[in-house]
Amino acid sequence: MLEGMMMNRPLLVSSIIDYAADVHPGTDIVSVTEDGLHRYGYGDARKRILRLANALRDLGVKPGDRVATLAWNGYRHFELYYAIAGIGAVCHTINPRLFAEQITYIVNHAEDTLLFFDLTFTPLVEKLSPGFPKSLRYVAMTDRAHMPASSLSGLLCYEEVLASGAPDLTWPELDENAACALCYTSGTTGDPKGVLYSNRATVLHALFVLPACAKALQNGRRVLPVVPLFHANAWGLPYTAPIAGAALIFPGAKLDGESLFALMDSERVTGGWGVPTVWLGLLAEMQKRGRKPNALTDVLTGGSAAPLSLIETFERDYGIDIVHGWGMTEMSPVGTTTRLGPQDAGRPLAERVDIKSRQGKRIFGVELKLVGPDGETLPHDGEATGELFVRGAAVVRGYYKGEQAEGRGLDADGWFGTGDVARITPDGYLIVVDRTKDLIKSGGEWISSIELENHAMGCQGVAHAAVIAVPHDRWGERPLLVVVKGKDADPCKDSILAQLGDKLAKWQLPDDVVFVDELPLTATGKISKLVLRAKFSDYKLSG
Ligand code: ADP
Repeated sequence: MLEGMMMNRPLLVSSIIDYAADVHPGTDIVSVTEDGLHRYGYGDARKRILRLANALRDLGVKPGDRVATLAWNGYRHFELYYAIAGIGAVCHTINPRLFAEQITYIVNHAEDTLLFFDLTFTPLVEKLSPGFPKSLRYVAMTDRAHMPASSLSGLLCYEEVLASGAPDLTWPELDENAACALCYTSGTTGDPKGVLYSNRATVLHALFVLPACAKALQNGRRVLPVVPLFHANAWGLPYTAPIAGAALIFPGAKLDGESLFALMDSERVTGGWGVPTVWLGLLAEMQKRGRKPNALTDVLTGGSAAPLSLIETFERDYGIDIVHGWGMTEMSPVGTTTRLGPQDAGRPLAERVDIKSRQGKRIFGVELKLVGPDGETLPHDGEATGELFVRGAAVVRGYYKGEQAEGRGLDADGWFGTGDVARITPDGYLIVVDRTKDLIKSGGEWISSIELENHAMGCQGVAHAAVIAVPHDRWGERPLLVVVKGKDADPCKDSILAQLGDKLAKWQLPDDVVFVDELPLTATGKISKLVLRAKFSDYKLSG
């Protein structure tokens, strides 16, 4: 090999905040806090991050140590991301919506040494602390004036910890493969599994995402991550926005349509990132007020399939561009995004919506492969349907502490099996048909719950819909449609089935429609099919 003669500088997370402070020092980070809005620029954020990093070292945090957070989207959480990673430790973001036993499991599994938590989680931490490691120390993410009266022994105060740190620090020159962050997947089956991100993968992921989201992420744009910092790195936004020089508007704990609308309006937010259920909430608020938040031009939706009707209404009624993304915690997490090119400019709305309802094209750095039932690689012809495998520099090769690493997730060629069933069109669009475990296997055919839900959401009077498989004597499984009615609407089973009958073949139609007040959500805000299946486990299809 003739080796290239370029500098071998490590790709480090700390370089991102250094860059932002240098190049975009005045760009806003705005956070909703217990005291109203907090506002500062990337320059001042870095100053606090350096102090915090010194303070963490003073508290005994060493490279490789896991430091946990239980917190909403806010500036202190953002500071922890960088201060922890910068000194070579690992920021373990805990999803507070996990079951109590799961939180206990992951804190013990990660062997966290410090736990930083937002005030809203004080009762939760107090309740769970007996099950946490005895050596774990606690820090409330607030100032002295707001410190809770708590039973936690030795509870520290974030602002005091930070103030105790020396102001100057030269970041250590870490190995770029050193871990920087840890996020456990919600583990719909078995225990949660830890995805351990490296500095290198995190920086590369940010660089891979940026060109795919160039319109949304640039200097002058104001981006609101509804997707939590505790879930899959808020889809990389804490890293991409500072590089791009986009402002970050952190919404805190209130994520309902009304609160989001008000914050977007007052902060002139240009783009929001979150799961479809969040955008359904915002849509209801926009419909109530008869307008969109004044500066909002684009929304990135991902985490579960975006309903056609949502894309259409946002675009047609409000002129908001929906970008549909697909990814996984295991992929850092972005894999694909929909990008309409100049060639699509003249397309009618229906065609644009149809394209946007696909999961998008792969971003640079992510490779996609479809695998058939016998392990054969399938063509990208828009027809062949198989399990989706991925490969890339920001994709996991195993889980933290090795459980189920090689062999379970990876195939012989080193590709990671996503557990999603998909098609890929010749021009590179990914179409996710379903999660393997959510597909309805009726006779010899597969019915896509995503496709059915998509059509159901377009039916009059339907606010929200989910489809699950229920056992059937003859066909093995048949689809059951579970519907939440729209406000002031009263759709009936027959009218919904009649509308679906215009769009789908007879064998794809649900066998029954049941109405519920609300759908159960997972820890990441998606519809929990697991809970729905349990709820309807005794359900008997008539006829
Ligand atoms: P969790 O299991 O905690 O929800 P992830 O957020 O990592 O963890 O979930 C990744 C999965 O979410 C994907 O494998 C896929 O099934 C689903 N998903 C993500 N984005 C989309 C999308 N745009 N359309 C359909 N499914 C999606």
